[in-house]
Amino acid sequence: MPADSHPSVVVLGGGLSGIATAWCLARAGWRNITLIERGPELGGLAGSFEKDGHFYPLGYHHILHRDRALLFFLNEIGALPDVRWRKIRMLFRVAEGLFDLGTPGGFLRFPMALSDKFRFVRLMMKAFNKRDWTDWNNRSAAELIDAWAGPGVRKAIFEKLSRLKFDLPCSEVSGAWLGARLHFREGSAPLGYIPHANWTKVLCEGVARLIRDAGVSVRVRSTVARLHAEDGRIRTAELQDGTRVEGDLFVSTIPTEVFCKLISDETPHLRSIQYTGLISVVCATRQKIEPEFYWMNLASLDRAACGIFLLSSLNPTIGRAGDACVNFVTHLQSRDRPLFHLSDDELLAVYKADFRAVFGFELEPFWTNIARVPMYSPVFNRGFQNPAIRSATWRNCYFAGNYRTFPSIVSTGTALASGVETGRAILVDHRQDSDLQERINSFRLKSMPKA
Ligand SMILES: Cc1cc2nc3c(=O)[nH]c(=O)nc-3n(C[C@H](O)[C@H](O)[C@H](O)COP(=O)(O)OP(=O)(O)OC[C@H]3O[C@@H](n4cnc5c(N)ncnc54)[C@H](O)[C@@H]3O)c2cc1C
Repeated sequence: MPADSHPSVVVLGGGLSGIATAWCLARAGWRNITLIERGPELGGLAGSFEKDGHFYPLGYHHILHRDRALLFFLNEIGALPDVRWRKIRMLFRVAEGLFDLGTPGGFLRFPMALSDKFRFVRLMMKAFNKRDWTDWNNRSAAELIDAWAGPGVRKAIFEKLSRLKFDLPCSEVSGAWLGARLHFREGSAPLGYIPHANWTKVLCEGVARLIRDAGVSVRVRSTVARLHAEDGRIRTAELQDGTRVEGDLFVSTIPTEVFCKLISDETPHLRSIQYTGLISVVCATRQKIEPEFYWMNLASLDRAACGIFLLSSLNPTIGRAGDACVNFVTHLQSRDRPLFHLSDDELLAVYKADFRAVFGFELEPFWTNIARVPMYSPVFNRGFQNPAIRSATWRNCYFAGNYRTFPSIVSTGTALASGVETGRAILVDHRQDSDLQERINSFRLKSMPKA
């Protein structure tokens, strides 16, 4: 097909899924692609901020060794050889104290019946060996844990984790989602990072370069305010400043809730998707923080934060030498929760109280960055189903993003993979194809060098 006969494409949202869709089409020879992003640069949730010449993620980000699409793209931009892997320490804070479930001693001391500990280990091994979780789509996380490990394990561990992640009991969370998450072994395998850098910045800049080099027209600081349709097709994206961008095809990678507000008529399925809210506060201190850990689950459920991350424990060179970089994270069932609406000072005071309760001294940060994400992740409740890749209402509209990657974990890699899948679907609808998915699926990590 000659290049100029390809349809023009407008991609809504310049996070990783939008970038991946644009790249998939551009490398297949499509030349008229416009990507529209509200923020000042591309990257979305994987974006960064700068303090004193160093860059940090909006909230903890680590590379998972099973996240093939992410590893593939890191390789594609030449950054994979720079990735280093570190076994991290994950702590579990309950009323009885702090426990490292990754060590035999910590696991044995954890307040749970010995018989439940055996059941827990069996559950983890079973989950590790199961790749496809679709048979658990319509069952709850409570059913999964009760069937595979028992209510004792659920009460001691998973009810707490479910509250921390979704602000919901296990009975309301999808069993498929929990199973897929256990399969990924997020806390027990080594995690990746790039020394002397914030790896998400390296990734976002690298993939932004890929699409710019491939001729994609990128419009940042451009908020889509409305979509105009005619005869069952979306015709125009109207930006907040009144500019109109026309296209033959549209790809939405923005949260479904935002999309449904931009255009009047969409399926009930899309409208029913609800999003969790997220607060992430990153700060730096020169105080020494002990015990050593990267990830602490505040499973006592008596604090505002769900987790505290010590970013400098995974990547000691992320900031200035000797700085400790602390990240407080709270997942909220929705952005309507009062915590989401506290002022910056109030929020900081709440997290400092959490810090005092856990570490026994006052946190004295010398800078702080607060990110409030009103729509972070779809609530993966029991029965959640991915919306179709092609809009049921608009003949020329496609979807990509982490609301389509259930039951997989929500990650940079799954966002990239979703973008590639949608790019391919568009190509197939226009009698072309892409080898990207096969290349991602066959991608293998050859080694996992330590720092
Ligand atoms: C605190 C935190 C920790 C995380 N930890 C990890 C981790 O450890 N490892 C990992 O791999 N992943 C992690 N992730 C997940 C990962 O960052 C995301 O899943 C991924 O970046 C999502 O990409 P996306 O393109 O699907 O969505 P988004 O990044 O949300 O992209 C959507 C884009 O659309 C834009 N947009 C929205 N509305 C409009 C509009 N009206 N007009 C124009 N543009 C619009 C937004 O600005 C945004 O850039 C984490 C995320 C967070 C927030």
